[in-house]
Amino acid sequence: MKKSVVSKEYTNLQKEIVKLQEQWKQSLNPDRIKPNLDKAALNAGVPVAALTVIDFEITLFIQWIDEINKLIAKNNPELEGKLTKVSELLNEETAIRWIDEAFALNHIYFNRFAQENEIEEWIPQFLAETALRPYLQLTAEKVQVEIHQAIPGSGCPVCGEPVRLAQLEGEGKKVIHCPRCLAHWAEKRIACSHCGNDDHKTIQNITIEEDPTSQIQVCEKCHGYVKVIDTRQYISKPSSAILDLNTIHLDFIAQENGYKAVVDYNDSIR
Ligand SMILES: [Zn+2]
Ligand SMILES: [Zn+2]
Repeated sequence: MKKSVVSKEYTNLQKEIVKLQEQWKQSLNPDRIKPNLDKAALNAGVPVAALTVIDFEITLFIQWIDEINKLIAKNNPELEGKLTKVSELLNEETAIRWIDEAFALNHIYFNRFAQENEIEEWIPQFLAETALRPYLQLTAEKVQVEIHQAIPGSGCPVCGEPVRLAQLEGEGKKVIHCPRCLAHWAEKRIACSHCGNDDHKTIQNITIEEDPTSQIQVCEKCHGYVKVIDTRQYISKPSSAILDLNTIHLDFIAQENGYKAVVDYNDSIR
């Protein structure tokens, strides 16, 4: 099996984007984000970000999208015309809509936007999501000390992203990392993040022959999976966003074997 299923160009572009997001996050005034840590809501699986008041600076959001466009165009000159068109379309009103729809992960809205404006389908949502993340990441930073666990099946307690990545730390403790907002929380070594199953008879680890630091933990009850990466031997630890991308081959293996990172509730109660 080939380990690198994503092109080097794509990985490099993603790395540059992650670097930009870090700079943008640093430039944000933390006072613009007011998280509401409602314990009852957290226990019910409502992500913190859904109750957080974020004072978005729309002109800055638009400026960030222009910066991503320039970066993509530099790497893919054939897209330049389309990306310029996006920049022209992105007025303040559209930008506010984009923030809302990116937050809600509304694929339908973005697909329609792409179709109506004859832009490649992936572009609008990718841009909106990329420029939204620094806000989610700053939200996560502000509440991280309060995040100790997640409700199985509810995804990331900060941003709601489905769980798919864990790292082994210390004595072998399993820590779930969210590649979207970078929040993290511990989980029992043998437990399914999707349905809460902790029966060692129905939780298996798929090991990867050529890659002793990677495993895929799969649950026979709900058919969910989580990638478990032992990063303790890594000389430099990549950000969770990069680690998620670098281990995308594991997602393919899991999915080829019938496992999913987003579990349908009907599957888990069967
Ligand atoms: Zn998250
Ligand atoms: Zn499960």
